[in-house]
Amino acid sequence: MTTKRAQKKSSPAVTSITQKTRLSGAEAPRFEYAPSVQSSDFVQIEKRNGLFIGGKFVEPKSGRYFATINPATGEKLAEISEASADDVDLAVKTARKAYVNVWSKISAKERGRYLFRIARLIQERSRELAVLETIDNGKPIRESRDVDVPLVAAHFFYHAGWADKLHYAFPGQTIAPLGVVGQVIPWNFPLLMAAWKIAPALACGNTVVLKPAETTSLSVLRLAQIFQEAGLPDGVVNLVTGAGATGSALVGHSDINKVAFTGSTEVGKIIARAVAGTNKRLTLELGGKSAHIIFEDAALDQALEGVINGIYFNQGHVCCAGSRLLLEESIAKDFIDKLKRRLTKLRVGNPLDKNTDIGAINSEGELKKIKKLIQLGCDEGGELYEPKTCKIPEKGYFQRPCFFSNVSSSFTLSRVEIFGPVLTISTFRTPQEAVLKANDTPYGLAAGVWSEKGAKIHKVAGALKAGVVWANTYNKFDPSAPFGGYNESGWGREGGRHGLMAYLDVK
Ligand code: NAD
Ligand code: MN
Repeated sequence: MTTKRAQKKSSPAVTSITQKTRLSGAEAPRFEYAPSVQSSDFVQIEKRNGLFIGGKFVEPKSGRYFATINPATGEKLAEISEASADDVDLAVKTARKAYVNVWSKISAKERGRYLFRIARLIQERSRELAVLETIDNGKPIRESRDVDVPLVAAHFFYHAGWADKLHYAFPGQTIAPLGVVGQVIPWNFPLLMAAWKIAPALACGNTVVLKPAETTSLSVLRLAQIFQEAGLPDGVVNLVTGAGATGSALVGHSDINKVAFTGSTEVGKIIARAVAGTNKRLTLELGGKSAHIIFEDAALDQALEGVINGIYFNQGHVCCAGSRLLLEESIAKDFIDKLKRRLTKLRVGNPLDKNTDIGAINSEGELKKIKKLIQLGCDEGGELYEPKTCKIPEKGYFQRPCFFSNVSSSFTLSRVEIFGPVLTISTFRTPQEAVLKANDTPYGLAAGVWSEKGAKIHKVAGALKAGVVWANTYNKFDPSAPFGGYNESGWGREGGRHGLMAYLDVK
């Protein structure tokens, strides 16, 4: 609103000056900032990291370790234990014992107290957690510090509050915990995904065995130190590190009551097959190819920032990334010009630098996947724009922000998840066409709608087959808001009252 009014009121002279600078801005070098690097030497990292079972760090029975690296430099950070099926079995037995002997015996109020304590300790150690997350994952410190870690604390606070009030969430019904839950999470939000899994499970009275992704175990292992400090009874949360085989041993273990998985649709399907025919409950949070719809009456400058935040945030390593931009035809050309100018201003580089907008891609394998898909987009006839002025570091795994315009729904690029800073753009003429195009996907995780007309937003949002629809914003999260997908994006919801249901037997 404000932007529009300001534009209307500005004199012709001012407009032409702005336009002049803007036009030349497309390829002009941007201002360089002096480096402002977050110190990381205060964070101690063990050379070798054990498994966290029964409240202690223990060596893996497997005797095997693997390296975790800093994707911004390619350097090895530490060794991580590879849990074998035997190690997983020990973790599950430990969680069962803790469930039977301790966690199911203490009062709900006491469970809440532990969660409050954990939440406060996370806040106290937030800088350390943010730095660890950034070094091991590659995301900018600005995001781990201002988005991930505060949300992690918020999730523990929120669920701490629920622990002794669950009967208000389900009035007139009987509720009971499920028992031992097995949880497997991805590398894009290691701490946040751990919080989404652990906090509701504990609040509802379950005990946990969780496996972080193989490239990002460090911050989750640091959480284990916080559990120790909080005095959380031994065995209530156990962490097993390792890759797919470890995850498979966990979800296939006969003594767990529930599997909660966040990751790719491909692995989600394998897990659904593994769990079929058992008594285990299952929730799946999978991939996405979310549409971001901009109508001509939207506040375009704000919408542009929404688009940037939607796809370039966290290098596009976001399951609900707004990776398909749908522009109303009348504004498409101007909006794409704006987007080009904005991309030249994004800073790709050292994730520890506080000015960095786009950090490192999490692994060499992920970077290769992204590059392959970009090539495929070019081969299919998409028009690629990559800002020429954007420098990227020589070492480490980095990808310039880019987009494809002139992309139709039949392109591979508009159907598969790229999981990188790559946007595809197409146009529409009517709200009906926008909805049709947005829903033309096997996924259904999220969507964004930008318009000044509330009625239009409600109508379009109601017709979109997506678990989350943001209106005039994007990528906003809150522990009280349920999150989850349609179709190939998953089953079940996390967060809010819906999220509690996933960890309770409600009768
Ligand atoms: P991934 O599926 O490859 O791995 C996820 C986790 O599963 C890892 O811990 C991995 O070790 C484990 N795993 C691999 N094979 C397994 C098997 N056979 N059995 C059990 N566990 C196994 O996914 P990724 O590459 O780590 O993460 C990216 C994906 O996660 C993207 O598709 C993204 O959309 C999705 N994601 C979804 C959400 C959501 O909430 N919907 C959130 C974050 C990420
Ligand atoms: Mn790593």
